Amino acid sequence: MRASRFFISTLKEAPADAEIVSHQLMMRAGMIKRLGSGIYTYMPMGLRVIRKVEAIVRDEMNRAGAVELLMPVVQPAELWQETGRWQKYGAELMRVKDRHGRDFIIQPTSEEVITDIARTEIKSYRQLPVNFYHVQTKFRDERRPRFGLMRGREFTMKDAYSFDRDAASMKVSYQIMYDAYIRIFTRFGLEFRPVAADNGAIGGSGSHEFHVIADTGEDAIVYCPTSDYAANMEAAEAAPITLPRAAPTLALTKTATPGKAKCEDVAALLAVPLNQTVKSIVLTVEKEVDGKLDKQVWLLLLRGDHDLNEVKAGKVPGLADYRFSTEAEIVEWFGTPPGYLGPINTVKPVHVVADLSVAPMSDFICGANEADFHFTGANWGRDLPEPVTFDLRNVVAGDASPDGKGVLAIQRGIEVGHVFQLGTRYSEDMKATFLDENGKPQLLQMGCYGIGVTRILGAAIEQNFDAKGIVWPVSIAPFEVVLCPMGYDRNEAVKTAADNLLAGLLEAGVDAILDDRGERPGAMFADWELIGVPHRIVIGDRGLKDGKLEYQGRQETAATAVDLTGIIAFIR
Ligand code: ATP
Ligand code: MG
Ligand code: MG
Ligand code: MG
Repeated sequence: MRASRFFISTLKEAPADAEIVSHQLMMRAGMIKRLGSGIYTYMPMGLRVIRKVEAIVRDEMNRAGAVELLMPVVQPAELWQETGRWQKYGAELMRVKDRHGRDFIIQPTSEEVITDIARTEIKSYRQLPVNFYHVQTKFRDERRPRFGLMRGREFTMKDAYSFDRDAASMKVSYQIMYDAYIRIFTRFGLEFRPVAADNGAIGGSGSHEFHVIADTGEDAIVYCPTSDYAANMEAAEAAPITLPRAAPTLALTKTATPGKAKCEDVAALLAVPLNQTVKSIVLTVEKEVDGKLDKQVWLLLLRGDHDLNEVKAGKVPGLADYRFSTEAEIVEWFGTPPGYLGPINTVKPVHVVADLSVAPMSDFICGANEADFHFTGANWGRDLPEPVTFDLRNVVAGDASPDGKGVLAIQRGIEVGHVFQLGTRYSEDMKATFLDENGKPQLLQMGCYGIGVTRILGAAIEQNFDAKGIVWPVSIAPFEVVLCPMGYDRNEAVKTAADNLLAGLLEAGVDAILDDRGERPGAMFADWELIGVPHRIVIGDRGLKDGKLEYQGRQETAATAVDLTGIIAFIR
């Protein structure tokens, strides 16, 4: 490739709405262009990366025995009504009407369509197992599209769907995909971690997410460095795992006799910071008791980092998504019903009174809104006198791993892949069956497997960048090598050497680009460092006289002289 015939468009400054580094750098490197909220054009430079990601994904999917097809983006509502997801999926599902007033959706995922294909195409056990996949545009009307390609509304996903005759063989198919994912993310050259996860809106039983490790990740992962144990905190919340040991987490250590002020006792215990990433705040709320308005202190658990002032000012969107501890949870955690708590889903937060996650809780007063209902001198500490079981909601770094093989650590991750054991979640609703050896109809056992193709770009950058720009792993870089000739337009020897080298690299299968734009060296280098090309070769008149070129890796601080004749072997 020649830069003069490609399209390069770099910026000094990122637009103001680009909050995180990957979004900023992708905009500055001219990889994407915003069309609307969460909707981007993949510009030529960005598309090259996407194509490389897709190629690795396809290669490993094919190797794992999956078969590629391509399902439509627009899907009839009827299929989604069959599985109930037309109602259940909520506002993220983009619904559209055609000219006849018929309902359609723009696919956020394709379980319904693939199950429809399976129920008509798969007739006999002899056709099983089979795994179909496609790489297709998805649309999710995200509540808060942000971070560029990381949480877009329109994005590209690879989604695969396996069909098996029974649960045991479905698990085998799942394991094959799990292994393929390990190979895929290894080939991307990214640091990643598979973690146990929650099934969410997709349904089904077991699932794992694949996370690219990055401080800016939206998810918190709890894992044990000395064993295989790893889970998304989200999953830990959906299915608490009880750890049979004393709680080292924050807990009330000093209280007055918990008599009447039961509400605050419970609230105080629940108000411990759940982990580094979840903040808990106490709210004063109003609720009606016997026709009378009663003010009480309740608890709201907030996920993610939010400025308290923003919360107070009502600027945190979707507060409704956050939740009060339910009565059932309190019963589960404390063994007894919470006295006069009553149904609390109906209460409305009035104002924030304290941020328990910011200040150390020392000599805290847990007060009810009546005289004589206060505790004074409540402290949160690590020295609980008695062993107490607790669940992962309260986990902190250093706690024992549930598998007993070490201690837990917490880190942040970006969900780039997700594999699910669906079982008969879809085949039941859609009556997708096959005939077994005895001619008896059986429900198909399914699995589904997603990779956020476009999100990979953001995740790779969040993990690999420096002050100059992006640092692409070679396998997904838009170009592997850039040739920077000094005076391409005025020095015949340089021009000839550069042209020959480009031809030689391309011949050897190296994805090279020659910068023949005639830019000044400084501007030229800055562009390619921003774009993140892993290898740079400078071709200069002086070096050529000795048969030398200057090589510099993207993160190296100085160039190395390399023989012109050995440069291709050197790059490889
Ligand atoms: P998230 O928790 O980030 O909302 P999800 O769990 O809803 O993701 P899945 O339904 O598991 O996503 O979809 C499979 C993959 O698609 C995800 O692992 C992720 O990599 C990607 N993905 C999901 N939503 C988006 C989005 N809005 N923009 C880009 N990629 C996405
Ligand atoms: Mg989602
Ligand atoms: Mg998720
Ligand atoms: Mg997911």
